Amino acid sequence: MEYVSEKLKTLPPYLFSQIQKKKKQLENEGMDIIDLGIGAPDLPTPKFIIDCLVREVQKPENHRYSPYAGSEDFRQAVAHFYQKQYGVMLDPDREVLPLIGSKEGIAHFISAVINPGEKVLVPNPGYPVYRSAVHLAGGKIENLNLLAEENYEPEFARLSEEGVREVKLMLLNYPSNPTAATANEKTFMKAITFAEQNQIPIAHDAAYGLTTFEGYQAPSILQISEAKEYAVEFGSLSKSFNMTGWRIGYVVGNQDLIKALSTYKSNVDTSQFLPIQIAAATALNSDLSVVSNHNAIYQKRRNKLLEALRLIGIHASKPLGTFFIWSPVPRGYSSMAFADRLLTELGVIVTPGIAFGPAGEGYFRVSLSVPNERLDEAVARIKQLQMGGG
Ligand SMILES: *Cc1c(COP(=O)(O)O)cnc(C)c1O
Repeated sequence: MEYVSEKLKTLPPYLFSQIQKKKKQLENEGMDIIDLGIGAPDLPTPKFIIDCLVREVQKPENHRYSPYAGSEDFRQAVAHFYQKQYGVMLDPDREVLPLIGSKEGIAHFISAVINPGEKVLVPNPGYPVYRSAVHLAGGKIENLNLLAEENYEPEFARLSEEGVREVKLMLLNYPSNPTAATANEKTFMKAITFAEQNQIPIAHDAAYGLTTFEGYQAPSILQISEAKEYAVEFGSLSKSFNMTGWRIGYVVGNQDLIKALSTYKSNVDTSQFLPIQIAAATALNSDLSVVSNHNAIYQKRRNKLLEALRLIGIHASKPLGTFFIWSPVPRGYSSMAFADRLLTELGVIVTPGIAFGPAGEGYFRVSLSVPNERLDEAVARIKQLQMGGG
């Protein structure tokens, strides 16, 4: 494989492919596998969004390249959504940029703002894309260790002075994948203060900003005064509106950082297909009742799964956001060994915590985004598991 770049050859190993390989093997042997490793909604995209896409796709003027800065309708919808949801005012021309999914935006953003060799503070445990994107940008990872006993909030005092001095960017993510931890405004206020003191910009990934339960509303980092001087926030329609395959997200906040990403992107893509942007604008301009309906479904599934885990002696905390449960593994297991036991004995796939960084060891992630009857079947299987003998 001599034609592959060093960067690609040295990408951290992708643990998920190992699990998928085993899944296939067991399925070939006739085992029924339930995949609770999936990080995408199982429910369909709401009809009013699809109807809008179908209407817009018929218009020849929508078949051309989108402007680099994206559709004005979409940018205005994002600004309107921020005002309605968070009381944050945004300039749709300078403080909003559409993305081809937030994953694309986050990865390109890192390349747009750091030089090779520079450090990025990355949540540990965290979404694996952060680590690979820093690697592809030639950067270095500085772990931002997040601990269960601190509610997975950053403890900036623990970072060493010289370590911080070389950091060029910090990533945050609440509600969090994989820990399902949620933040309040105080968490963000501390982060902005840290950013100001050390002149380190923040990229906050709010992919699960609307996926919340029991009346909890996740704040935006832009609600903090001065936040626009230091922060951008990445948003996505993938999780809240069941639109993973549509590839539509956005970034909002500091206009210089957004301009850097926009310049970078104008050299690698030409924004998203206009009908998709217009349909996504309709989603953001809606009353968000479809989002509440999805959340109610996840909340029921969450309760069912937590109860099943409790019955086998596993006590995971009850999350207020995301469609994940982040749970400690039983005593005596590594996260890989426990995930392997669930797969081999029960035919249930969960994601070992180690896949999300070294601090994920000792935990596993369960996804609630599987159809109810499959989740019920997984719950029934988990309840049969005899723990203790090891
Ligand atoms: C799913 C996910 C994303 C990516 O979402 P897209 O908009 O579909 O690219 C980003 N961040 C986190 C934490 C996610 O779980």
